Amino acid sequence: MLSKSKAALRRLYLKSPLWCMKISTKITCLYAAILLLVLVLTSVIMGLGTYYTFYHEAETEIKIAMERMQEGIEESSSLQAYLNEKDLVPPGIVLRVTDITGRIVYETDSHYPSLDVLDANRVKNPPFWANKDMDVVKLDRFVFYHAKMDVVDHGQFYQLHFFRTITAENVFLEDLQILLFIITIAGFIIALAAGYFLSRRILQPIRDLTQTARKIEVERMDRRIEVPPAKDELSELALTFNHMLDRLERGFKQQQRFVSDASHELRTPVTVILGYSDLLSRWGRKDTKVLDEGIAAIRSEAEDMQDLIEKLLFLARADQKRQILHKDYVNLAEIVDDAVRKMKLVTKNHTVTLTANEAGTIYADPATMRQMMRIFLENAVKYTPEGGHITISSRRMPGEKAMKLVFADDGIGIAEDDQKKIFERFYRADSSRTKAAGSVGGTGLGLSIASWIAEQHDIKIEVESQLGEGTKFILTIPLAAEQKKENN
Ligand code: ADP
Repeated sequence: MLSKSKAALRRLYLKSPLWCMKISTKITCLYAAILLLVLVLTSVIMGLGTYYTFYHEAETEIKIAMERMQEGIEESSSLQAYLNEKDLVPPGIVLRVTDITGRIVYETDSHYPSLDVLDANRVKNPPFWANKDMDVVKLDRFVFYHAKMDVVDHGQFYQLHFFRTITAENVFLEDLQILLFIITIAGFIIALAAGYFLSRRILQPIRDLTQTARKIEVERMDRRIEVPPAKDELSELALTFNHMLDRLERGFKQQQRFVSDASHELRTPVTVILGYSDLLSRWGRKDTKVLDEGIAAIRSEAEDMQDLIEKLLFLARADQKRQILHKDYVNLAEIVDDAVRKMKLVTKNHTVTLTANEAGTIYADPATMRQMMRIFLENAVKYTPEGGHITISSRRMPGEKAMKLVFADDGIGIAEDDQKKIFERFYRADSSRTKAAGSVGGTGLGLSIASWIAEQHDIKIEVESQLGEGTKFILTIPLAAEQKKENN
């Protein structure tokens, strides 16, 4: 029921010209309408109150005069005798006494019109605040109350007429009406003007925001909206908008860097391949040594390129949240064992040792976990000179529901400044050292992939390294029971 009426209201709003108005115009109209309503209500209440007070005052005076007259007549021997007394009615009240034929036998003011004239000018429908027992007479600009009282004195019928003028009050009330009308209209116009001016001023930051948003182009992402000094919703909006732009700019720059780095990385193997194919076309047909060397080099470059493209595709899928993980309850020891065994098979010039491999169930995607371990192991081999040692250990952390997996090597190490940056895409610590270590230079993407995989499994990675002494990557992997609880 409520939702139906809400929908009806919405339809009405959409049909009305209000919905396509500017916010400032809407606010102005709404506030002006509310103010108009308040002004009209105040004027009506004030006007009616004043009317009632003035009429009531006149009526009370007549009533007092009538009561005093009643008491006076009762105290005197007769009406005639009482009429001879002084100050029969209070000032402002006019008394007229008529006999049964309507002839005036007494009056305090002879200027008042005859009873017939009074009767002819009696207001047929007096205002609702007027006393129903009295007549309201309107004669040109003059308005007065007329109350009657019947008296029988010594068998004779008399009618006493009391008059009280309300002309001055009526004039005042008419003036008041005009004044209230002018005040209401003036108030309405001022509210419209002030509302328009104020709402425009208040909403200025929103207009600035729209202007800035319009000017923002991919090439000009450094523009920011000016934050208003007041700490209000609009300054909050401006700040949020600017923060959003900061994030967008950062993301955009990162994207640009990523694209240029990727093309740069791809250019080198392509150049090498082109160089070798030139060499082969010139000498390869005759010289088998050149032919073998060329084919081997082209193959190696193509493999590097394939590796780079696969890594790029992995990160692109990860960014687009399209990299699907098939998580299950698995024994970490089996994955570690498998990864180390495969590494040992391909590593001839380093000593790879698995010092501890404790069992522990983790909730993970085994394929990506293996991929992550391969990255750490390959790096250890790459950045450790021949004859070096690579040690892997996986232990349950005492007191904590997690496993501690350590990849340690005694290779070239990573400088402290570089340690924070190695997880960034395409970041490679000083490549001359890499070459000095006699290893193949990498792409700078391995650790970015490893850190994404770690993030997906709530794994914490720490680096401990000393230049020339070796590197340790310490992984804290939560055990399945802990993860299950967190997921619930
Ligand atoms: P890359 O393909 O260059 O190895 P990674 O993202 O895997 O890219 O690593 C980033 C950089 O971190 C490497 O270029 C290297 O300088 C440094 N690094 C990674 N692992 C090690 C390690 N075990 N010993 C020394 N340096 C390392």
